[in-house]
Amino acid sequence: MLLTGELLIGGKSHMGTAGSFEAIEAATGGKLKGSFGGATLDDLDEATKLAWAAFPIYRETGLEQRAAFLEKIAELIANTSDELIVRTMAETGLSRLRLEGERMRTVNQLKMFAEEVRSGRFLDRRDDKGDPTRVPLPKPDLKFRNIGIGPVAVFGASNFPFAFSVAGGDTAAALAAGCPVVVKAHSAHPGTSEVIGRCIQQAVRECGLPVGVFAMLHTTTREVAQALVADARIRAVGFTGSRSGGLAFMEIAAKRKQPIPVYAEMSSINPVLVLPEALRSDWEAIASAFVGALTMGAGQFCTNPGLILAIEGKGLDAFIEKACEVISTQAPQTMLTPDIAKAYRKGVSALSGNSKAKKIAEGQKSNEFQCQAVLFETRASDFMADHAMQDEMFGSASLVVRCKDKSELIAVLEHLEGQLTIAVHMRDGDNALAKELLPLLEVTAGRLLVNGFGTGVEVSPAMVHGGPFPSTSDGRSTSVGTAAIYRFLRPVCYQNFASDVLPALLK
Ligand code: NAP
Repeated sequence: MLLTGELLIGGKSHMGTAGSFEAIEAATGGKLKGSFGGATLDDLDEATKLAWAAFPIYRETGLEQRAAFLEKIAELIANTSDELIVRTMAETGLSRLRLEGERMRTVNQLKMFAEEVRSGRFLDRRDDKGDPTRVPLPKPDLKFRNIGIGPVAVFGASNFPFAFSVAGGDTAAALAAGCPVVVKAHSAHPGTSEVIGRCIQQAVRECGLPVGVFAMLHTTTREVAQALVADARIRAVGFTGSRSGGLAFMEIAAKRKQPIPVYAEMSSINPVLVLPEALRSDWEAIASAFVGALTMGAGQFCTNPGLILAIEGKGLDAFIEKACEVISTQAPQTMLTPDIAKAYRKGVSALSGNSKAKKIAEGQKSNEFQCQAVLFETRASDFMADHAMQDEMFGSASLVVRCKDKSELIAVLEHLEGQLTIAVHMRDGDNALAKELLPLLEVTAGRLLVNGFGTGVEVSPAMVHGGPFPSTSDGRSTSVGTAAIYRFLRPVCYQNFASDVLPALLK
């Protein structure tokens, strides 16, 4: 597998000249083969200029042609070699099984958007016939449709090198909406990004689309990444990563001459409520399943269960005892990047140093590139008094909050920041309490689930992967599922147009 380290712009590739960097092996911190060149501001200008030029043509491509384009990308990714999986394993520390599954998920996600495009549903075409005879005023003829919002900047996620990176959910949704895409490749998996980026470039060529429909840049300075968001031709941003990164982009976007939407997925601790009857009858199974969800993929999921909420009692004591027992057997796991491992240790050490939180279990010892699972506990009153206890620790760390009674549980829920998911573990005897809590849960999270954990996000039309701030910058949207397309659309109304002047997609 040849990696050139080049930028992909305008259907061609060339080496960036603004510095260079190597990919880092997640497990050792050593350098992997190949050097990647950083984009200059001129490269960025060329990519966005071409994207802007492609926009009017691409957004009016027929639905069949656009769907076929998405399917072509899917086909090319499905046919990537095993060498890609080997490279991605080295770059991310993720397992073969996980990455093979994720590559297929990415392929299926593209196919799902192809079907959505074919259906034309997202255009939401409306035809409100005029009536020139209406009194006292004639009724205008109104036609409505959604159009692509414009070129979209995509910042791939480190924790999903396929499904949320170069050809991931944001890119697929933007392309489906009729928007050209400029991707800023994540520095944690540049080799993976190049291979996938070349698949999209090839699909653009084979489908006869304008070359500006897709570009991918590596950057060595934050200045270039920020200039992408500030560029006047970019009309929306898709981002998954840290709260500080998301906030930085929101600020840049808001200060532009023409502010634009930033769809940033940032931090969420995904509370898990274990209701009294579930604790009483099933504490053991729930505790084991909780540790399984917590430690899966070294806990590097935006939906990782970082908070357990339950009412004091024998059931909670037994649950905690079992969870501690299982956590202590957990082997350490390689994290995505040395920086993410460092950030994890920093978060764990901050909570360890908090006199109101107690470390109650930890997994087997780790090295500096690995995640050691850890469990803390605190009282609800202490949790509510210290906002820092809600900080995301990206990895296998969780905090159990002991609530004195139902009203304290409700007070904690009212105190929570916005979340991607809230899971409720309940049995028949818990129905009345669950019903009482539901209105509060709905306003706090984008997805509510029963007797499960938020990890494992189904890619399907009814999925919501989003939630109130700070889980995302805009809780009115989702980044997974067909509804993700609406982030990159804008409604336009055509009043009193002769039919032969109207765009073909509206007829
Ligand atoms: P990140 O540091 O926010 O980076 C994400 C992408 O944005 C990268 O391409 C990065 O560039 C760029 N970026 C970030 N801040 C920027 C800024 N101020 N200016 C310009 N570009 C900026 O996220 P990460 O490296 O994936 O992980 C770091 C932390 O983010 C984790 O420890 C975790 O806490 C959180 N995270 C959360 C989720 C989630 O789904 N909730 C997922 C992944 C990570 P470079 O490539 O040059 O660094």
